[in-house]
Amino acid sequence: MVAEKLKELRLKISSICQKIGRAEKEIELVLVTKQVGSEAIREAYALGVKDFGENRVREWLQKKGELPQDIRWHLIGHLQTNKVKDCIAGVNLIHSLDSIHLAHAIETNAGKQGITVNCLIQVNVSGEATKHGIKEEEVEPFVREALKLPHICLNGFMTIGPLTEDKLLVRSSFQKLREVRDQMRKKIPQVDWKYLSMGMSSDFQIALEEGANLLRIGTAVFGERPIQHNRGQV
Ligand SMILES: *Cc1c(COP(=O)(O)O)cnc(C)c1O
Repeated sequence: MVAEKLKELRLKISSICQKIGRAEKEIELVLVTKQVGSEAIREAYALGVKDFGENRVREWLQKKGELPQDIRWHLIGHLQTNKVKDCIAGVNLIHSLDSIHLAHAIETNAGKQGITVNCLIQVNVSGEATKHGIKEEEVEPFVREALKLPHICLNGFMTIGPLTEDKLLVRSSFQKLREVRDQMRKKIPQVDWKYLSMGMSSDFQIALEEGANLLRIGTAVFGERPIQHNRGQV
């Protein structure tokens, strides 16, 4: 089941890339395993996937212990500051740096643990009130503040597309995030703004067309989750 879906997904990504003239190897994939059992995760791992994403720290830590140690874990959901100390050592990339308060909590704990934490800034480009993430116009001051924190390494930006059937709205959100990234590349070139993390099962084609290079995909590979939480919400 996982094998088939994963193969389908890879074929789809590859055919989209061909159509839009992008190199497939520049696209990285994170399989989102929230509410997915360890067995299905192992199945994907056996097929060569090393990058997995979770949105809840407690659920993730429970699974992490029983899964291969070379998995690169991505934290994609809103992170509460009281969970920071338990998660930063085991995480490859936090996609959801969404407040300066959280940045300071990560800095303090990473300093104590003697590690650097890779983070993407989550931007709420669609402006939906229910979504975490900083506003577009706050990105630059946020970056300047975060650059003062030596244990945080900024790697790019993340957004969650608006929950709508309106493809134009989805596209314009992804375009906005790319513009934010392009602006920061000009204004703050000392940072390697490598990642544009956008695109989920329902909208990754549009995301790829708009420049995404890090996709976060769950349902398309593991099927519908039993309880659908708000997107990006813990
Ligand atoms: C659940 C989730 C995904 C994956 O969504 P699917 O629709 O299952 O592909 C991606 N990003 C975030 C932040 C999520 O919470």
